[in-house]
Amino acid sequence: MKLKQELQSLYDKYKNDRSGQVNNSIPALSQVNPDAFAISIAMANGKVIEVGDTTTNFTIQSISKPFIYGLALEQYGNDFVESKVGIEPTGEDFDTVIKLDDQGRPYNPMVNSGAIATTSLINADTKKTRDEEVLSCLSNYAGRKLRLHTPTFKSEKDAGDKNYAIAHLLKHHQILGKNLKSDLELYFQQCSVNVTTTDLAMMGATLVNNGINPLTKKECVSPTNLRHILSIILTCGMYNYSGEWVFDIGVPAKSGVSGGILMIVPGLMAISVYSPRLDKRGNSIRGIKVCEELSRIYNLHILDNSSPKTPAEIL
Ligand code: GLU
Repeated sequence: MKLKQELQSLYDKYKNDRSGQVNNSIPALSQVNPDAFAISIAMANGKVIEVGDTTTNFTIQSISKPFIYGLALEQYGNDFVESKVGIEPTGEDFDTVIKLDDQGRPYNPMVNSGAIATTSLINADTKKTRDEEVLSCLSNYAGRKLRLHTPTFKSEKDAGDKNYAIAHLLKHHQILGKNLKSDLELYFQQCSVNVTTTDLAMMGATLVNNGINPLTKKECVSPTNLRHILSIILTCGMYNYSGEWVFDIGVPAKSGVSGGILMIVPGLMAISVYSPRLDKRGNSIRGIKVCEELSRIYNLHILDNSSPKTPAEIL
């Protein structure tokens, strides 16, 4: 079956699956339509194939983390960033109130402590504020101007006690400095940027296409830093499900608590799914099911001996 029909049949198969719970730790996230469901695929050349509610906006949440980690790498280089934040998986919940490694760093840039530390590093050039720098980084990947969803930003600020606790502990360990409040607000802003599955798929296609947005041709990240991003999301991208994800599905991916998943198939395509009902680890239930099926159908596991299908076979 060709990709478009395959997506339609997966959509039909799972559209009535109502298992799981919408996130309620951020009040604004519990307001969304729990039944929304969309799947978008962007090929390395930017061609998009999609089904479902692909114009529905949702906040990017943790899927912003690898892109902002990449921005920190572009600004400071890996040696400096790695002196602040490690590269090891934790096996713990993403918002665990802080466990630092034996060098006093957050374990990796995908858990909240590591992401807050990474975001705190971001500098803006003289013409921009730091939040414009973050927004334009995400927008460049998507190939269009993305916008902040202010109610979610406010809600994260009001309900973010755990993240405040993490930030204060990071300050205690001298990982954050005197700008704690603005660093944390910048982190809440990056999580509260609205996207659609089409945007996420294009952001992923930019990673697949050597860091260059396939439609605008804008270079968003260097090849070396791109490899760092993909390595981190392969080992740490799916919360404390990352090991099982690599075992079963076998490609770099990142999920967010709003119900998005972005999965990267190196050299071929990026797949994004949105469905807000989550499992207990914070991953979209229908999202995982769709990704599992697509990996099996098209031999996407990167360690599989049989080669993945080619674009010509898929399309
Ligand atoms: N803004 C969310 C938080 O910091 C992001 C969590 C996520 O998507 O994993 O709690």
